[in-house]
Amino acid sequence: MQDYALFIEGRAQPSASSESFDSFNPFTGAPWARIARGNADDVDRAVRAAHNAFTSGPWPQLTASQRGLLLHKLGNLVARDAVKLAQLEVRDNGKLIAEMQAQLAYVPQWYYYFGGLADKIEGSAIPLDKKGYFNYTRSEPLGVVAIITPWNSPLMLATWKIAPALAAGCTIVIKPSEFTSASTLEFVKLFDEAGFPPGVVNVVTGFGSEVGQPLVEHPLVRKVSFTGSDATGRIINQQAAKHFKSVSLELGGKSPNIVFADANLDDAVNGAVSGIFAATGQTCIAGSRLLLQEKIHDELTDRLLALARTAKMGDPQSMQTQVGPVTTRPQFDKVAAYVDIAKKEGAELLLGGKPATRPECGSGWFFEPTIFSGVRNSMRIAQEEVFGPVLSIIKFKDEDEAIAIANDVRFGLASGVWTQDIGRAFRMAERIQCGTVWINTYRAVSYMSPFGGYKDSGIGRENGIYAINEYLQTKSVWINTGAQTGNPFVMR
Ligand code: NAD
Repeated sequence: MQDYALFIEGRAQPSASSESFDSFNPFTGAPWARIARGNADDVDRAVRAAHNAFTSGPWPQLTASQRGLLLHKLGNLVARDAVKLAQLEVRDNGKLIAEMQAQLAYVPQWYYYFGGLADKIEGSAIPLDKKGYFNYTRSEPLGVVAIITPWNSPLMLATWKIAPALAAGCTIVIKPSEFTSASTLEFVKLFDEAGFPPGVVNVVTGFGSEVGQPLVEHPLVRKVSFTGSDATGRIINQQAAKHFKSVSLELGGKSPNIVFADANLDDAVNGAVSGIFAATGQTCIAGSRLLLQEKIHDELTDRLLALARTAKMGDPQSMQTQVGPVTTRPQFDKVAAYVDIAKKEGAELLLGGKPATRPECGSGWFFEPTIFSGVRNSMRIAQEEVFGPVLSIIKFKDEDEAIAIANDVRFGLASGVWTQDIGRAFRMAERIQCGTVWINTYRAVSYMSPFGGYKDSGIGRENGIYAINEYLQTKSVWINTGAQTGNPFVMR
């Protein structure tokens, strides 16, 4: 068993209670690490450290270019340690080593990109309508940011927040998921090596009610940047509102992946599989509703079944494995519960629908790739996020019906459209109500392209130039260059 402490003011620290909790390897189902169990006292210490680092000491004295350089150095260190960090994530969250190595090799780009952006944050000179005044704006950091992350892709999702927050000049307290805390605690050691002053980045591990809630409510926290379920996002939004804190919420989805009869069906089949079985369906952007046009419904379903049946399950540390375990025991139970719900609702089970008992799955939390057809969009299996390898196939007639079904859900995170008709591609991109539309591809992301949700999928955008605005506030400065100070009772 490995022990992990909190990280406050640049060094590992025990939790105030000295308690810990176990972190499990989803492939073996056994605990492998003990994580410090933080509480409100630890949160207070970490937030005060972040606040001190924001208001005094070297961090606020750095030029924006110097901040950018630190981020660049951090990116280099992540690149150096990418394989080690990827292996740690696999052990803790069961995602495939192939996927995690690719993710960790890509993560440095966020630090380079936002490091480069740090000294391009500009104010503006406003050409006022009033003579005798000069008016300009300053873009200033919000202050201490609380970063709360889920258990899937912990380092990648934390990075989407850390890079722009630090580029903006904020300081941060991170609370990773209680299911996958180890990689974040290993990763933050690199901040010291990169040269970040102590207190700029802090980590308090623990549970939502014991660490997450006091962190959101702490009066010195000015911004909450959260990725997780819509249920938790709603609570956080309400708590943050009490203190008028800025929030960014990246929440769940029930994304439609829409295949028209004119699509390249070879690509579409691959896109459907990658949309739902990659990462064992545990992604917010999972294409969990596969909308098939009537004419190709049967053919595509057959091809999909044939491909899904070949998926190799097993040890996520093996480069050959294609479907790994479900990350947590409660999530495993939730997937099984949704299969029962779908059956009761009358959906037709075509594949899987049960825990995987193949020898290569050992004692891990594996669930067979599962496909339902004959799904109606009003069924719970089509409306609620399962967050597992469970696909719902829904038939549609034409473009209008595809749009009606795609949009008839409270989420709006992502979507896929498969067609070779360029006009249709543009029309669909315009009419689908969600933050990302992929045409003839699925599950592509970049540090340069905005990402976020419509409707119940969230508030705010990550990635791309404008993501930095989530961590900035605007100040307007007025200078009298010669205007007469006239009647004091009249607005100037
Ligand atoms: P979750 O909401 O259960 O937990 C997320 C984090 O919030 C954890 O760190 C948890 O401890 C913390 N938390 C729980 N209660 C809290 C409270 N009251 N106050 C503050 N913090 C609290 O989500 P999860 O199960 O870890 O992750 C899966 C969910 O995340 C799915 O819904 C998925 O769609 C979503 N997700 C969204 C994106 C995106 O970018 N939109 C990306 C990945 C995952």
